[in-house]
Amino acid sequence: MNIILFGPPGAGKGTQASLIQAEYSIPHLSTGNIFRAAIKNETPLGIKVKGILDAGELVPDKTVVDIIAEELKDPKYDKGCIFDGFPRTVVQAQEFDAILATKGQKVDAFVVLVVSEDELIRRILSRGEGRSDDTVEMAKNRLKVYHNETEPVQNYYTTMGLAQEIDGIGSVEEIFDRIKDALSN
Ligand code: AMP
Repeated sequence: MNIILFGPPGAGKGTQASLIQAEYSIPHLSTGNIFRAAIKNETPLGIKVKGILDAGELVPDKTVVDIIAEELKDPKYDKGCIFDGFPRTVVQAQEFDAILATKGQKVDAFVVLVVSEDELIRRILSRGEGRSDDTVEMAKNRLKVYHNETEPVQNYYTTMGLAQEIDGIGSVEEIFDRIKDALSN
């Protein structure tokens, strides 16, 4: 099963994706984690994307899609995956469909975590992970980028009849229960 966990920065995608991974025994793929690891290890990819992440902007579609295409060749994804932070543009979503089609797969579920803007900023700033993109200005920019470039991805999957909105306010367990309900539909 290929599940996209969707929502703005600070919505809790990473936390919930880890729980889904454990519950459904399918791997979790976070493009943000891939980029942060590359930056930490100072790989060519990391050097290329560091400024982009620090500014809260999006990494170019081609770079992201190439990484996903390469990663999904690993047989560990044969039974599907939970995607967190990808796709973030409609172009990425379209390319993603094409990649999955070559594997005889498709997106099976698109779950949107809905959280108000004030709560998102509060969460991003209190996350305390020391991420270099976690400042007020950057948080606001990441939300702006989300509205402009990423939100249209939800319409894309709504048109395909896949989008399910989940209330993203509550305890981690409550939200996880809602996600499990949505996935069982
Ligand atoms: P995240 O951990 O998902 O919030 O991602 C952190 C940062 O990585 C984002 O603010 C972007 O700069 C970059 N990033 C992660 N995933 C993508 C993606 N699918 N497309 C473009 N940029 C991305």
